[in-house]
Amino acid sequence: MSTAAFAAVDLIRAKRDGGTLTDPEITWLIRAFTAGEVTAEQMSAMAMAIFFRGLDGRELATWTTAMIETGERMDFSGLDRPTVDKHSTGGVGDKITLPLAPLVAACGAAVPQLSGRGLGHTGGTLDKLEAIPGWRADLGNADMLAQLREVGAVICAAGSGLAPADKKLYALRDVTGTVESIPMISASIMSKKIAEGTASLVLDVKTGAGAFMRTREQSRELARTMVGIGRAAGVSTVALVTAMDAPLGRTAGNGLEVAESVEVLAGGGPADVVELTLALAREMLSCAGIEADPASALASGRAMDTWKAMIRAQGGDPDAPLPVARHTEVVTADGEGYLARLDAMAVGLAAWRLGAGRAKQGEGVQAAAGVTWHAGIGDRVRAGQPLFTLHTDTPERIERAREALAGAVDYSADPVAPGPVVLERIAD
Ligand code: URA
Repeated sequence: MSTAAFAAVDLIRAKRDGGTLTDPEITWLIRAFTAGEVTAEQMSAMAMAIFFRGLDGRELATWTTAMIETGERMDFSGLDRPTVDKHSTGGVGDKITLPLAPLVAACGAAVPQLSGRGLGHTGGTLDKLEAIPGWRADLGNADMLAQLREVGAVICAAGSGLAPADKKLYALRDVTGTVESIPMISASIMSKKIAEGTASLVLDVKTGAGAFMRTREQSRELARTMVGIGRAAGVSTVALVTAMDAPLGRTAGNGLEVAESVEVLAGGGPADVVELTLALAREMLSCAGIEADPASALASGRAMDTWKAMIRAQGGDPDAPLPVARHTEVVTADGEGYLARLDAMAVGLAAWRLGAGRAKQGEGVQAAAGVTWHAGIGDRVRAGQPLFTLHTDTPERIERAREALAGAVDYSADPVAPGPVVLERIAD
């Protein structure tokens, strides 16, 4: 179809006034925007119209397909193991991909985990792995395929060839207050995952104070929408809605999270990280049709062997010491009792202010910066005991990190039980 088939302004008006767009209109719009024929101003207006008016099921399916068709589609069908991937909507201390990918590969699946760098209060998986001396994120398609054959797992940068329309649209949404739209988030995530060519997909949709979606209802709707798109595209898709009121584990920050992930692979690590890793691994193996017990792959050290092979295959030294921050400072508890609240957003913000995250795309991050917390929900805390350790190479950042953590915790005089990590499973 010619790119002059429609006028963008007519489509914007139609959506603004609550109408629906036809399939040819949507396909044209996405193609013409990617080609630079629909302007950023027009696409921003359309994003705002969709933010308020939404997309119905048919529009959303067409929108997602149109975004996929602006780029390449990867093909892993030549592998002799089933492919399965995981996507998390992002949370503080969420290092689960690191132990999960080698664990699921050690159980017999191929895990092509195309990841991104972080922006804002949640860290990016690539930033975390780049704390490992020598490790590189950029792999060509041939290297990626070879690593999947030989090791079974690869975590690398998503090339710019996958759904380029999404990259362009996300940049507009980010600066026009239109990110928080369930149809646009769903199309954005699923277009990249479907283009990546995985046969099955498990989604970890976070809910709570440190998540994109603060309420359970919104998280459930996001999960349902993404599962619907995946299934319609022939990808076996399941979602878990998981808690993100408190941060996961005991660390937030790149190298700190690698160290914690290695503890999990060595059979230790914080209980919530182990629980979520195993829950997601079970779902991934079930989607891939593999009968295996991930807990025994962890306990036997097979997952650790696969981790080391995966890191080495990308130039990293899994046995090299991780970078250590030049400055640390301890924040002590100013109250006492059972820890009843530990605010994930506050911890994420503090880690970010210490240098673990970036403010603008393309900025560097500090490999050793971040926050360690010394108590989890339900732990008994005494006034004056160490509660957080702040890590940074630039001590002038410490004051602002302390400010972020002021008011981040509540104590209870009565015992508190930590809540479940997995709240809900959505399969259709
Ligand atoms: N992550 C994405 O990839 N896209 C969104 O729109 C939101 C989160």
